[in-house]
Amino acid sequence: MPIRRLSELLGQPDASAFLRGVAAGGRYANAYLFIGPAGVGKGTAALAFARALLCERVAGGRSSEPGLFQEQAESPSQAPQDDACGVCAGCVKSANLQHPDLKFLFPVSGEERELDQTIAETLAAWRTDPFFVFVYEKAASIRLSMTRELLRELAFRPFEAARRVVVVRDADRMREDQYSAMLKSIEEPGASTVWILTTARPSRLPATIRSRCQRVKFRGLPEPLLREFLEQRAEVAAPAARMLAALSSGSLARALAWRDSEPLALRDQSLALVEPALRGDHAGLWKAVQAFNRFGRAGRETMRRLIEFQELWLRDLLRARYGAPREALVNRDREAEIRRQAEHATATEIRRRLMVLEEALVSIEGNITADLALFSAMARLATPGLGGSTWPRHPTERWEY
Ligand SMILES: [Zn+2]
Repeated sequence: MPIRRLSELLGQPDASAFLRGVAAGGRYANAYLFIGPAGVGKGTAALAFARALLCERVAGGRSSEPGLFQEQAESPSQAPQDDACGVCAGCVKSANLQHPDLKFLFPVSGEERELDQTIAETLAAWRTDPFFVFVYEKAASIRLSMTRELLRELAFRPFEAARRVVVVRDADRMREDQYSAMLKSIEEPGASTVWILTTARPSRLPATIRSRCQRVKFRGLPEPLLREFLEQRAEVAAPAARMLAALSSGSLARALAWRDSEPLALRDQSLALVEPALRGDHAGLWKAVQAFNRFGRAGRETMRRLIEFQELWLRDLLRARYGAPREALVNRDREAEIRRQAEHATATEIRRRLMVLEEALVSIEGNITADLALFSAMARLATPGLGGSTWPRHPTERWEY
């Protein structure tokens, strides 16, 4: 079951408590800005908050004018006052993303003339796949035509609920003139629209927008929580779930996006890459690296992942050196090998290798051809003494769609 209510949010106790408090109080700011790393549940929380605002049983959820076909409300004592009830007509519609007073803006890429189709397909996938993950191309943006149409609608009263809710995913992907138009709506006194903006890159939003939003902070998700979710809700086998959780830097979206990738097999392939490098067989290494280009457009992401598998392996070596028990090892299915390698490697050498790999990740991020970055990293790994120089930014920043 997808997460649809504030009470079900994964690992965000502060944000969840704050939003439930707002829903219970029945007084809303004109705009909220959900800030936090990519893939930790900001979008899910935005939707859950929107549902609570549109729920007919939460205080003030329904328009004060009774509709012609308005059904008898059930006993309000059963309804949670701080969350969507999940059963009223409003909740059913918003769960299907079909509430007339629930609007979305999200980045899309591709041709303008195919925009309607792209949007419809995205909404359909979002509606039907409980683990749907938004994945954008680098240039994806919230299109001008989408905001124009939305702003026209905002001039009218909400259809069914007391207010209209607009969820703007990755609000940092807009143009200056779109922000000004949005700002006008946010600043309107007594507006019947509540804006919920999400972003992993708040500094890219104009200060004028940021200052008018109530901020809500989201954090990276702890590894055990990701593992549990993957195993119990996404039906990922335990060893793969452990690997994905360790690789995801606290991002559930990132873990889910890779859930069909057979991480153990990919890990083995990744570790095998070091072998030709160690033999000094550079032609063989280049050939092995090229084999990963068959993943096509996803090649870059795959190469990045190959490097991350090696990082996990090295971290396990460090753990083993410091006497960590089996349960602390991510690659525990190859424990004997880890223990053996750990005996022969010094902590300094392991750290040097980690630094080489981190540099390769930065290179890939910085548009260096991914296969070249991977090749050179493997060659340097195998050459003791060739060190890295700087530690890069925080790992969660690497994954910008
Ligand atoms: Zn409801």
